Amino acid sequence: MPKSYAIISAIIQAIPSPIIILDQTGRIVLANASARESAGLQENRLLFDLVPNAEPAKNFFQLCRSATMPVPARLKLTSGFDCVAFGHRLAVTETGIDGAVMIRFDESMNLSAKFASLNDDISSLNSKIRHFGRENSQLENLALTDPLTEVYNRRGFDRELEREFSRANRYGHAFCITLIDLDHFKSFNDTHGHQLGDKVLVHFAHRCLEHLRQTDIICRVGGEEFALILPETSLDQATVVVNRMLDLINATPLYANGEHYAYTASAGLAQQQPDDTPESLYMRTDQNLYAAKNQGRACLVHDPSSSQFETSWSAEAQPQAAD
Ligand code: GH3
Ligand code: MG
Ligand code: MG
Repeated sequence: MPKSYAIISAIIQAIPSPIIILDQTGRIVLANASARESAGLQENRLLFDLVPNAEPAKNFFQLCRSATMPVPARLKLTSGFDCVAFGHRLAVTETGIDGAVMIRFDESMNLSAKFASLNDDISSLNSKIRHFGRENSQLENLALTDPLTEVYNRRGFDRELEREFSRANRYGHAFCITLIDLDHFKSFNDTHGHQLGDKVLVHFAHRCLEHLRQTDIICRVGGEEFALILPETSLDQATVVVNRMLDLINATPLYANGEHYAYTASAGLAQQQPDDTPESLYMRTDQNLYAAKNQGRACLVHDPSSSQFETSWSAEAQPQAAD
């Protein structure tokens, strides 16, 4: 069930008159307590099965789906519940409820008050749903971001890698990923303190942000391990980019508290191959990183060059690597 239904459910539960929400087929997806108790309306039932004469109810439902104003009708239910109902299409795009119909039963109010009150309900519902949509996307962004370095975290990386896979498969573009792990970081922390270690992590992430292309994606996938996704980049081009990145890190130490703190990093690099999954590509990159550590650190190891996967990368789109 879309989240929007959960919000509407929370809102309508507090309303004393019976209210139901029908999906596009007329099935009751939400019924507030009053609808269940006083009208005998139950979720997962078709509204048309709950009335003695289904045809007028179906017409009423179709009218609600096409009308912009609340539609009044007299609805008699098999439970004996008999009252005036007002139906209104819920037209809120990208919420999962677009095209649903809200029906409100309320005998005690006069007709014009019902119209006004239902309209108020709808517009307040709509604004709550829009607000929720915005908050939700902010929360989602937070959940994908590493708070220390403000680049994507592991979840963000997984999402972006999936996206890059679909893009590459759709357009036949090659791309590479690289894993970069800071060297001997434990001993850096032990020598200089964890706080300074944190500054190095931020320093590294910011160097990457400054020196990579805007379309490259930088993620902190573990404690002192970063991943870069390099779209539309061949293995040869990525090798140049990552080597320059490692050189840059080497050449420009962190400056803090009046002192320079040098550090290095090792990297593994791999290019997406036609039979790769995100997992197999990541694993190959990780094996290359492992090899770089074994080769003495502060270096890059990449897949053997392969012409299996043609890239449609063009000369104009050359990555602007660090100088
Ligand atoms: P290697 O060159 O083999 O990668 O050695 P290493 O010491 O970097 O690797 P190891 O996996 O032994 O240790 C990783 C260290 O990274 C230990 C941990 O304290 C540190 N670390 C992980 N996350 C953070 C963090 O958020 N802040 C700081 N300051 N240090 C971190
Ligand atoms: Mg390390
Ligand atoms: Mg590590």
